[in-house]
Amino acid sequence: MNQSYKKNLEFIKNSGINYFLKDSPRNWFDDSKNMKRKQNGDNTKLNEIYEIIQNLKQHQTSLQKTAKKLVVYDGNVNSKVMFIGEAPGKDEDEKGIPFVGKAGQLLNKMLKAISLERENVYITNVVYWRPPNNRTPTDEEILEFLPYLQRQIEVVNPEYIFLLGSVAVKAILSTPLTLSKLRGKWYVYESLRLNKKIHTIASYHPAFLLRSPQYKKAAWEDLQMLQKKLNHDA
Ligand code: URA
Repeated sequence: MNQSYKKNLEFIKNSGINYFLKDSPRNWFDDSKNMKRKQNGDNTKLNEIYEIIQNLKQHQTSLQKTAKKLVVYDGNVNSKVMFIGEAPGKDEDEKGIPFVGKAGQLLNKMLKAISLERENVYITNVVYWRPPNNRTPTDEEILEFLPYLQRQIEVVNPEYIFLLGSVAVKAILSTPLTLSKLRGKWYVYESLRLNKKIHTIASYHPAFLLRSPQYKKAAWEDLQMLQKKLNHDA
């Protein structure tokens, strides 16, 4: 086998795309199935998120060797606003719920400051198992889980996405630019399967704000930009 092809194949396999090797199709994007569920009323989104969780449970990743629990989402699947963080930390790994540790407590306060409750927004991460010793997810891990994040966005279909930190920025805005360059402006997220543009803003991760409180002022300005949009919609 040609060396670069072999390397490529290994990269794809290592990044978890092992569905290629299964003998039955995955049917993630089977519209007829989605249509049927849509006719079944209000639980459509929950069913679809449940399906994503089931797919994640079957996804084999090296992170499972060290992590305890799969952590997918918290909050409201019908929310207009989706917050995307990085990956579970120690507390999230214990509880199976995103943003429940110190960073989560700060996130709750940030939400309250713009009159939002945790129960009314959708909260998820780029990576769904805790990386060992809380290390930053690698580019390969970001790519590995990107289809699950994109699918969540399609299902929740929010009006606004608020990116918490540079890993979420890399995953969604596909840019290596730093947060200090990117924050404070609205961007557009588009997905092939969504017939609309989602207004997206990037700001500092609450864990970073705990370590570097001098950036809280900028984060507050970004939150206010979201609040302004939400007030305008109301
Ligand atoms: N940091 C994150 O990015 N996500 C969590 O769920 C917890 C901490």
